[in-house]
Amino acid sequence: MHPTRAIIHLGNLAHNIEEIRRLVGAHRRICVPVKADAYGHGAIRIARELLAEGVSHLAVATVSEAAALRAADITAPILLLGLVIPEEYPLLVQTGCEAFVADKDQIAGLALQAKQMNTSLAVHLKIDTGMGRIGCVPQEAPSLARYILDSGLSLAGVATHLPVADSAKPQDIDFTHAQIKRFTDAVTSIRDAGIDPGIVHAANSGGILQYPESWLDMVRPGIIVYGYPSDPSSLTGHTIELKPVMKLETRVVHMKKVQKGTSISYGRTWTAERDTVIATLPVGYGDGLARSLSNRLTVRIAETDYPIVGRICMDQCMIDVGPEPAVRRWDTAVIFGPGHGADALARMIDTIPYEITCSIAPRVPRVYVTE
Ligand SMILES: *Cc1c(COP(=O)(O)O)cnc(C)c1O
Repeated sequence: MHPTRAIIHLGNLAHNIEEIRRLVGAHRRICVPVKADAYGHGAIRIARELLAEGVSHLAVATVSEAAALRAADITAPILLLGLVIPEEYPLLVQTGCEAFVADKDQIAGLALQAKQMNTSLAVHLKIDTGMGRIGCVPQEAPSLARYILDSGLSLAGVATHLPVADSAKPQDIDFTHAQIKRFTDAVTSIRDAGIDPGIVHAANSGGILQYPESWLDMVRPGIIVYGYPSDPSSLTGHTIELKPVMKLETRVVHMKKVQKGTSISYGRTWTAERDTVIATLPVGYGDGLARSLSNRLTVRIAETDYPIVGRICMDQCMIDVGPEPAVRRWDTAVIFGPGHGADALARMIDTIPYEITCSIAPRVPRVYVTE
């Protein structure tokens, strides 16, 4: 098998779910987004593991993601978080996924599609309380809830989304508290109209870590299920231990001595300042190792970190292992993983761990291990 692989630690996944359940309480439902191939971890395998761990709902961003789960015989409720175009309504109804809805047009379109296919469909009313992405304004919530029922759809839940719940800045904390209040007020107005809102849910990972009042009937943890941030204690008053699930590793395939003054890789951006040994790793931006990490990232071989030198190529990169290397050809090099989280790597290129694991290319095999 190709030496560059993403080892997926299912034991760590189970651990993270346990930690979340310990925090929010065993009675709360858990809905885990497996969108974008489960944040790069492999949607079908991860979905099966999550359901075995007692997760009640899955969530996806696109209808084709839902269809892939159904094709793998996954029958659990699937929330569709993103909006879709009318051409996708037949497949949406066929998969039976519970779509987020936010306007009359979409509700009417889905209701008609379900009627034409002689079936029922449940939806979740999405209320925009401050994300500014999809959702109705809170004042519209009771009339849309009524419209859903009058159209013949069932209302499985009411939801909102929190854009700064993962921040510790005072203004973001005020904003999130105000959002949760707007949301619970809107839910009350739905109840006051004599309508059962179904499952009420708001909390993403940030909400789970910082806002117990956002836990409501169900939580929607994404990134914390996959083990990030690897040090959440800075955000929380309580202790929750998260373990990264993905480890990106490769092997040393070539080593050679180079003299002081030798340049390495495209563009000659790095030149040896001493005689040293350069090792080549068969991983590059074609695998999802961002080229902007060139001359910045270190990789770990047997507890020691070695710098990537010169530009990262599409399929390969080079590290300086020093003049008297402890490294041997065929040694395993870890780019990130448990104990060596992708948080620092993400910060280096001004992004977040989500984008790092999502960017690991399909050609990198996912290897599932139980620890
Ligand atoms: C992706 C997503 C989540 C999970 O977000 P995390 O920050 O990964 O916990 C929750 N809710 C919605 C609507 C989402 O799109």
